[in-house]
Amino acid sequence: MATKVLLAEPRGFCAGVEMAIKALTWMVQVFEPPVYCYHEIVHNAAVVNAFERAGVVFIDDIADVPLGRPVMLSAHGSAPEVVTAASERGAVMVDAVCPLVTKVHHELRRMADKGYDIIYVGHEGHDEAIGAIAEAPTAAQLVDPRVGLDTFEPRSGSKVALLAQTTLGLYEWEGVLDSATGRFPDLWTARKSDLCYATTNRQLAIQKLAERSDLLLVVGSENSSNTQALVRVGRNAGVPTFRIDDAEGIDDAWLEGVDVVGVTAGASAPDQRVQNVIERIAPSEGIELIRVTEEDEYFPLPPQLRRFMATLQALVEGGFACRTPGQHGPVELDREMSATEALSILGV
Ligand code: SF4
Repeated sequence: MATKVLLAEPRGFCAGVEMAIKALTWMVQVFEPPVYCYHEIVHNAAVVNAFERAGVVFIDDIADVPLGRPVMLSAHGSAPEVVTAASERGAVMVDAVCPLVTKVHHELRRMADKGYDIIYVGHEGHDEAIGAIAEAPTAAQLVDPRVGLDTFEPRSGSKVALLAQTTLGLYEWEGVLDSATGRFPDLWTARKSDLCYATTNRQLAIQKLAERSDLLLVVGSENSSNTQALVRVGRNAGVPTFRIDDAEGIDDAWLEGVDVVGVTAGASAPDQRVQNVIERIAPSEGIELIRVTEEDEYFPLPPQLRRFMATLQALVEGGFACRTPGQHGPVELDREMSATEALSILGV
């Protein structure tokens, strides 16, 4: 039986996931179902299932949105033609792209306009990589970090830029960065790597857990890139590391002879799942929080949703004077609500 759980801090929901979950929660509260969502809102099965029960239909082809239905685009960022098509089809279109992914889209367009060939380090088939590459399809080439740079041939070795999927493992990014710098001395990269704060913080935290853990458990879905990166960081540190969706995923054999269990969660995993895992482990000496940094990032709701709700609110106030004039409405109070509270409305 394990004596202790080391619990990573930060873990779980990042600011982009918080924003996207709350935005879709508003959509299902405001509109009659079905509400359509292009791609999984975030890569977590529990979250996706909860929204499906609440009337959201997830689609992978924007043509599947019936004309005039409300539609949301996922946090991973969509191709420009998808955004345009969604605006044309949907009565209300809300793009819940994370602002940190939007930044990479801007960089892709800017460097392509300057005539650079772009190495985009990402995972083949991942929603974020597909949406990003579509910003500069002739200039950008997807380089999977597991494959490397061998097939990348720019028009000019002096005009090469390096950009990345936000949720990569640090070790994946650094490997490509090293070989690209060696091959292209004039390489352009963003001043700060494109790996987002949440990705790097969670990876630093699991490294810290690995120093004292006999076993590492990472809560998150299989298709979550940052969850998989956490698993690889744990294994690279030499500690047996497993990904689980929930407490039921724990194999009793993993816990045999184990004293200290490190627990963390990917950026799209609800914290309730983490609590279930701790209850299942039932450490005899309790939990110790291992904090590597404080996170207080906050991303406001998508502008289309803010505008829509402000209009709705003004209409209701105009008609029924339902709130005291001058008091804050739900958009202004958004920061006070967490995605966990939003999910509890949906019964997660
Ligand atoms: S993991 Fe990073 S880039 Fe992705 S949604 Fe969260 S904050 Fe945004």
